[in-house]
Amino acid sequence: MALIVQKFGGTSVANPTKIKAVAERVLASKKKGHRMVVVLSAMAGETNRLVDLANQMQTIPDPREMDVLLASGEQVTVALFAMAVKAAGFNAVSLLGDQVKINTDRMHTRARITSIDQSAIDKYLDQDKVVVVAGFQGVTGDGDLTTLGRGGSDTTAVALAAALKADQCEIFTDVEGVYTADPNVCAAARKLDRISYDEMLELASLGAKVLDIRSVSFAKRYKVPLHVRSTFTQTEGTWVVEETKDMESMLVSGVTYSKNEARITVAKVPDTPGIASRIFTPISAAGIVVDMIIQNTLDGDLTDLTFTVPRTDYDRAMQMLGEVAGEIGANGVSGSRNIAKVSIVGTGMRNHSGIATKMFQVLAGEGINISMISTSEIKISCVIDEKYTELAVRALHEAFGLDRAA
Ligand code: ASP
Ligand code: MG
Repeated sequence: MALIVQKFGGTSVANPTKIKAVAERVLASKKKGHRMVVVLSAMAGETNRLVDLANQMQTIPDPREMDVLLASGEQVTVALFAMAVKAAGFNAVSLLGDQVKINTDRMHTRARITSIDQSAIDKYLDQDKVVVVAGFQGVTGDGDLTTLGRGGSDTTAVALAAALKADQCEIFTDVEGVYTADPNVCAAARKLDRISYDEMLELASLGAKVLDIRSVSFAKRYKVPLHVRSTFTQTEGTWVVEETKDMESMLVSGVTYSKNEARITVAKVPDTPGIASRIFTPISAAGIVVDMIIQNTLDGDLTDLTFTVPRTDYDRAMQMLGEVAGEIGANGVSGSRNIAKVSIVGTGMRNHSGIATKMFQVLAGEGINISMISTSEIKISCVIDEKYTELAVRALHEAFGLDRAA
């Protein structure tokens, strides 16, 4: 008899028929005698609909009230799910974040879980009930509702699995697992059987959407093995686990891309102390997150600073930098929204040289110009022209031997 946490995303509970099907799936495990804790998201599209309603009330919706509103999406699915379980002849109880007690800090709309009280869940599991917990929400010490940030239900599931010392944490979604590349872009992409936490963290931060990145850090910290799999098939998905020796033999585990960034260059800035801070201080004060940064020293005492920002912040950043550029005597600000970041990720890179060179050769072979490069221990990212994204992903996938065996 195991304790299993299963999380189902919005597309898995998008309507009553799907909710009933998911309940059947959970009951299949329940019938084997397992103790079942289910975490649910809101129905697909519901959280967006609520955000949209809030935006019609206030230009910047009050964060506390926003959380009261957003928490309603998951409240609906857990109640319906518990009803579906009962209709199938089993017992269930739905619990909201404040009923479990999923305690968080006070950062409304992006709260962090601080602790979880497991007594209520234990009590109901001992009564042989399927415990259905609302994802994405928690409660402050003052009893105010909070939410964990968009996509936060994955984190609820992992945090519960860690707190309850669950034997398994399964994340059910609308894809079969983690792929070597986006199957919509690269037909030769394969589902991975296993991937390390670190690789998954890189993939999630570089554009792979299958798991919310905060849930992966949580899983890594508490060593919770995650099984990412499809709601709609019985096939095994991908296990996200601690790194093992044999993972190093795979040089590259996946190729990913993101079209969410834009590039900005502040040209011919005087190369003197304090310039970078003059440029980046207003940007960070405005809450804009800078990703890659490159500084080139030119002949003489001038330097070019190039960096990327989220595409949605591009206009704001350009406007702010236009002002700063004048003040610091730069030659001007230019940029492009039509860029993409293509990355390769693999634990095996730690111990092998020549991977970056091979990546550059592959892109060169396709006639693709690289405008920026950044690396970490287990990833290499190149910024290229957006229109070559798909070509680059496919070429790299093939060159690093990731294509499906013919
Ligand atoms: N319903 C929330 C959202 O759409 C949380 C989640 O789905 O994980 O962001
Ligand atoms: Mg979701």
